[in-house]
Amino acid sequence: MDPDGRKGYTGIVFNVSFYIAMSLLNYLKHRLVRKEAFENNIVYFISRSIEFLVLSISIVFVNVGHWVYIVLVFPITVTSLCKGRKFGSFVVGYSLVIHSGVILARILMYGFNSTIPSTEDISVWIATFAFLYLMLFLLAFLCGLIYRENRENESNNQVLLEQLGEKYKQLEAAQAEIKNQYEKLKESNIKLEDTNNKLTNSIAEFFTLQQISQAIGSILDIKELLRYVNDIILGVMGVSYCTIILYDDKRKRLKVHTTNIKDQNDLITLNDNINCPNLLNALDSGKPIIENFVDPSHYLFTQGRDINSLICVPLNTKSRKFGLVIIEQKYYNAFDDDNVRLLDIIGQQVGFAMENAELYQRMQELATIDGLTGVFNRLYFQERLQKEFKSSQEDHYALSLAIFDIDHFKRFNDTYGHLFGDKVLKTITEVIRNSLRSSDIFARYGGEEFVILFPRTGVMQAVEKVEALRLKIASTLVKDNLVEASVTVSFGIASFPEIAATEAELLRKADDALYKAKEAGRNCVKIAES
Ligand code: GH3
Ligand code: MG
Ligand code: MG
Repeated sequence: MDPDGRKGYTGIVFNVSFYIAMSLLNYLKHRLVRKEAFENNIVYFISRSIEFLVLSISIVFVNVGHWVYIVLVFPITVTSLCKGRKFGSFVVGYSLVIHSGVILARILMYGFNSTIPSTEDISVWIATFAFLYLMLFLLAFLCGLIYRENRENESNNQVLLEQLGEKYKQLEAAQAEIKNQYEKLKESNIKLEDTNNKLTNSIAEFFTLQQISQAIGSILDIKELLRYVNDIILGVMGVSYCTIILYDDKRKRLKVHTTNIKDQNDLITLNDNINCPNLLNALDSGKPIIENFVDPSHYLFTQGRDINSLICVPLNTKSRKFGLVIIEQKYYNAFDDDNVRLLDIIGQQVGFAMENAELYQRMQELATIDGLTGVFNRLYFQERLQKEFKSSQEDHYALSLAIFDIDHFKRFNDTYGHLFGDKVLKTITEVIRNSLRSSDIFARYGGEEFVILFPRTGVMQAVEKVEALRLKIASTLVKDNLVEASVTVSFGIASFPEIAATEAELLRKADDALYKAKEAGRNCVKIAES
């Protein structure tokens, strides 16, 4: 075997042995890396040191070895990259540096045309080896530092990530809480709006009821009161029509009293059909009706009037059924229970108002009408005399006054009793009342003395009328059980402007004439002197 051939054979054997050793060392290192236990690990340290030592020796003997080295190291490098995670980069960098170092060392030591060194050069390659070893060691150390820093950063990042995750969770919880609070806020807002609406409605109701209460206190004329209430309901409820219907207790019938319906045909339909069973039932039961899809066959008074919603409430008090209020709307589904409730309260208020007005009327009557006979009393007569006298003066017409007194009534009472005397008073006033015109004013002047005022009547006309009355009274028989009797009366008459010039004179002269009639034998008519 020639020296060159032996040299080449020995070199290949060396190289292959070194690279197998390097591969094993790298594999061992790779395992340590995977376990992440290489730092401060004695095996790692030793393996790395041996690796450098082997590498350095190989540099000395290498001639073609570095290509083989790359081929062998490459799979380990790839394995490190895939499985050793970040450390792969370290291995790649490390391997490349070694290769570069090997090539550089060869060029430095032997130039491009390399040969195996002689023993004389041994000091030179030892120095070079030492230098290279130091350089490579420093490089590896630096890479280790970089790698460590990377790992530290990574673990810091991990901590940060965990913290971030925690914060994210907190943020999510806070978001959920905010959403929850928002929902609650929304809910309470809806409730608030609802309460607000109710309050607004209550205020409107309160205002309406206050107005009606005021009307009750101040309007004592039923006609005026109902017109006012009708207007208020129209304004407050914003309906097309409002109609107040009163119940005639004697005729047992409903009658339209106040309405804002103007169309003549509609009014005829309403008046003709107002006594429908549904309304009569509502009046009877006192229960309101609400219809949001009106069937005209059940409510004939809406026929042909384009009414699609209605509410009807009774105008009842505990003791009286006055009638009904009906509100109508042209469109469907116009009313709700709140509308019924408000109208029902209004209906009750109006019921009270009507009771109030009736009471007032009754009191007025009591103040103007004589309790026994039902004709006007003296006080009211004085009032009317003043008014009538003024009118006759202004309008220049005659006004006659007749005064009459029952003849021997004291004796009559004594004979038949006071109660029978009362019956006589009632009977003759009834007879006279039925014989008078509506414009004549008939009043009890006191005791068994009465006055009659004849507007637009001259003295002779008055005498004629009074004469007829006198005969009628005289012929009227008053009966009470077994008793049967009649009375006569004496009349005195005076007249404006023929006999008297003032109202006082009219009264005084008529009274004088009555005195004369009594003197003349009673049961006669006397005219006052001019
Ligand atoms: P003369 O024809 O002169 O009028 O005789 P007279 O008896 O009617 O006399 P006078 O007018 O003085 O008497 C009035 C009587 O009328 C006295 C009283 O008993 C009676 N009288 C007055 N008011 C009433 C009443 O409300 N009921 C009854 N039953 N009698 C009355
Ligand atoms: Mg008298
Ligand atoms: Mg008398």
